[in-house]
This record gives sequence, structure tokens and C-alpha cells, in this order.
Amino acid sequence: MDFPLVVPALVRRARTLFGHRPVSGRRPDRSIARTTYASVLERTRRLSTALAGLGVAPGDRVATLAWASQEHLEAYLAIPSIGAVLHTLNLRLHPDDLAYIVNDARDRILIVDESLLPLFEKFRAQTTTIEQVVVIPSAAAGSDAGDARDVTANTGAPAHGFLDYEALLASADLSAHLEPVIREDDAAVLCYTSGTTGRPKGVLYSHRSIVLHSFSQGIADSLGIGERDVLLPIVPMFHVNAWGLPFTGVLFGAGQVLPGRYLDGASVLDLIVRERVTLTAGVPTVWLAMLQELDKNPGGHDLSALRTIAIGGSAAPASMIRAYQERHHLRIVHAWGMTEVTPLGTVCNLPAGLEAAPLDEQVRYRARQGKPLPFVEVRGVADGVEVPWDGQTMGELEVRGPWVARQYYNVEGHDSRFSDDGWFRTGDVVLIHPDGCVELTDRAKDLVKSGGEWISSVALENALMAHPAVAEAAVVAVPHPTWDERPLAVVVLRAGAQATADDLREFLAPSFAKWWLPDRIEFAVEIPRTSVGKFRKSVLREQYKGLYADD
Ligand code: ADP
Repeated sequence: MDFPLVVPALVRRARTLFGHRPVSGRRPDRSIARTTYASVLERTRRLSTALAGLGVAPGDRVATLAWASQEHLEAYLAIPSIGAVLHTLNLRLHPDDLAYIVNDARDRILIVDESLLPLFEKFRAQTTTIEQVVVIPSAAAGSDAGDARDVTANTGAPAHGFLDYEALLASADLSAHLEPVIREDDAAVLCYTSGTTGRPKGVLYSHRSIVLHSFSQGIADSLGIGERDVLLPIVPMFHVNAWGLPFTGVLFGAGQVLPGRYLDGASVLDLIVRERVTLTAGVPTVWLAMLQELDKNPGGHDLSALRTIAIGGSAAPASMIRAYQERHHLRIVHAWGMTEVTPLGTVCNLPAGLEAAPLDEQVRYRARQGKPLPFVEVRGVADGVEVPWDGQTMGELEVRGPWVARQYYNVEGHDSRFSDDGWFRTGDVVLIHPDGCVELTDRAKDLVKSGGEWISSVALENALMAHPAVAEAAVVAVPHPTWDERPLAVVVLRAGAQATADDLREFLAPSFAKWWLPDRIEFAVEIPRTSVGKFRKSVLREQYKGLYADD
């Protein structure tokens, strides 16, 4: 049967099977709103119809500038359901970058949180394509304040062209609802890379890639997501589709908890407890923060529902994986992905036999990035030659598969990140173990080249973060007159804890060759972060580039 794998099929399934499953979210005033898929999907239908009524046609881009919320989930589903393309804008980017991205994408409509209108005003004048702005009110959906409010009251923005989200839904003429023909290769979503390594580039996800990617998150050796789950993506909905979890939740009927703008350790912990979350996902910095909360009051939180904390986006330090498992009996599942891979490519689950192994061995395995998901293929390449899967030879990770991008959106000519024989060059340097488990040593541009040899910044960071006095550590290469580059460690100590650079070097010494040890360790109050919470190493490289200038 020629059955297209399209987002509306996900929505139909949830509508027929999962209407009773819960969707909850933290509102701007911190209160928690609870509803069900039945209500979300009814409102989704209204939004689809209303957008079509505004003239949105298949292929048109509709942007969102919003925190994780019920309305954002509605937009995720409604926009691809009429063949249009959902384009989530990263609200932590600089306004100039946002303007560039909106124009590059040619977004026609913007759906924006009321609280983010001041941000929109900062780049609105630079945008040339937006015709209509739909404002999601800050007050709870359906409340009196929400219905009656003037959407521009707090911002001073002119009302012309601004529509109220709730009023728009109410105005939808459901009798006019059309179901456009959508092919599975049509674009459903447009995401931009967060620009850690340069100007943001757009990546289009087809309906098929989203459906298959969602499917892959349900299988046991991936995240095993099913109807019994309640998902809390901490990774924002404006960054690679919150790792695709909103779509996966709809496909399998998993409950969803949408955290709004409150992503600090205490708020996350509170939501996990209150909403009986079973699976949550985010970058390591979020889980380092939550670990500190848990350690303040061990056993003081009911986390009995929580079966998995999925971590990706940066390397999960082994010490953190161990701390969660040992002190709080929580299981970390490490995963690797990137914008060009929709994003999930590998997931690390313990192989047969290791569940019963000593904790050290388990943690060592769990700190790897994992095995490729079904249909994702991996290889490591060094000097144009594929490296052996021996767990020792480093190579650049290349991937291919049904949800790996074929090209960047709107980029002329051939991009060297795509190989001639159909693979995507990730820019990550890895070892592949004999069982196919991928271990990331570094981003190619973060490796430190000292005296002609490579030093892994990730390995040093992970080891430093295992020191009891260290809250966070980032290692970067700084130019050195003799050695070309040397590793510099920038360390944030835990509140009240003390350690000297010598203490830390002594701590590292047993695990590394002498020339790997950072000669310089700088202490800082915080490490600069990217828009999605990763360490922003480019800032540190710039800040410390003259460190050895006088040597
Ligand atoms: P950006 O490249 O702008 O940071 P992405 O979110 O696409 O945006 O980042 C993908 C990159 O994040 C990967 O290429 C890799 O370097 C890093 N990454 C993702 N997951 C992991 C992980 N589990 N361990 C180490 N690095 C990771």
C-alpha cells in the first residue's frame, strides 16, 4: 500500500487513540495548566483551519518564537498538517541573527509569545517577509483576561497586523477545513543550526524523516517511549524540535509536560515530581544543576516515576552519570545528535550482560554516545580512509540515514560537509568500539593539538568534573609558541568548596599522560553558554588566546 508517512498520520492516531492522555505545562505565572490531547488536537484543528484561512498555503513557512507550551505544541502539529513548514526561532539568538534567519527562511507568519514581543520588536524592522503576527497571550488559555486583553497593551507595538491567538482559534471556520495532499518528502519543519560554529544554516525536515525519527524513539534500544510515559523535554521547543519528543509523544500517546520558560534545576525537579514524569531530556548543564538540587536534600523528592534522564547536546560527564545512579538511583541515557540529524543519531543503552556488571564498568559504557539507531549508519574517517572499529583509532564521524540532511536549505553549490558518496560529515571526532558503540572524543575544532599530538578536551573536562570541588569545567586550546597549542582548563568551583590548580592537576595525573595535563587552570564564576546551554568555547578561546604570548 502506498501509505505516506506524514505528520497528519501522527495526529490522526493520537486523535483516535490517545484523547485522554495528559498534556500539562507551566504558564508564565508559574501555575500549571493541565489538559488532554483531545483538547490540544481540537485546538490544533482550529489553528490549521485558521492559518489556511489567513492564506497559508502548502510550502509556506510559519515561524514560532515561543517557550515550550501547549500552544507551541498546537503549532508544531497544525502547521505541517496543512502542508506548511514549521520554523521554530531560537529566542536566545541575537536579534540580528533572528532577522537574518527569518528573511533567509522567508517566514510569512509569526506566532509569538506575548512575553517575547519586546524581543520581536528588536528585529521586526529588519524583517522583510512577515505578513501577520499571531500573539499567544500570557494569561491562561480561555481565561477572561486572555480573551479580552489587548495584545499590544504591554509592548506599545501597533495593533495593525497583530492577531490574538485565542481569537484566531475561535474564528476558525471548521466547515471549510480542507485536507491538502501532502507527500512524505514534502518539508514539514525548518530548523537552523544554533551557530556554535558559524552563521546559522537552515535544515529542512521532511514529513517522512519526522515520522521515522519519532518511530525510532519508541523502540526499546532507543528511548523506548510508549503510552505509559510522561515526557518532559527540557531541551527547548525552539532547538531541533525539542529533540523531536513532541512528535514522538503524539505518535505513541505519551503524556507531555511543557516547562515554559522555567528551566532551572529547582523548577525542573518540581515538575518531574508533580507531573510524575517518566522521561526527561536535556543538555548536561541542566542535569548538573538538578544534581546540585538533589544533593541538597537526598531522598527528599519523590522521583519514583522517573525511569530515564536522556542527555545529549554535549558529552555527559561520567562523574555525573555515576552520581545520578549511585546517589539517586536514576538512570542516565546518553545520546548523540545534531540539527542535521533531526537530531537523534545514536543512543547508549547497556548491552546484554553489563546490567549486572560493577558500577564503574556500567558508567564507563554509559558515558559513550551509543550505538546508531536503526537505519542510521556511521563510519569514522581519517585522511580519507575509514578507520577500524577498534575503540582506539580516531576519525571524523560521518553518518547517513533516512533522517540525515542531504543539503542545507538555501545554500548554493556543494557544501563540503556532504561527501560525494552520500554521507554527512559531522565535524565530531570519534572512536568506534568493536560493538558499534560510538565514543566522541571531541568536536574537530575543539581538539587541542600539542606538539603534534591530539589532546581530547572532552576527556579532560570529564575528569575535572569528577573532582568533588568542581562544579563545571571547560577545556580549550590556546596558542603556545613552542607546542602550537596547550590545553587550558577554566573551572567553576562548587559554592563553598576549595581547590588549587595544583590540587586539580594532581587529581588528573593518574589518568593522563603528563603532557595532557593543563599547565594553566583558570578559576571563573561561570562558563559562558551558547543559546542552548552548551559551553561556548569560542568565547574562552578568544579571552585566553594571549595566555602564553610572553612565554
Ligand atoms: P551546534 O552545532 O550549533 O551546537 P547542534 O545542536 O546541532 O548545534 O549540535 C550538535 C553537536 O553537539 C554535535 O556535532 C556534537 O559536537 C555535540 N553533541 C551532541 N550530542 C553530544 C553528546 N552526547 N556528546 C558530545 N557531544 C555531543
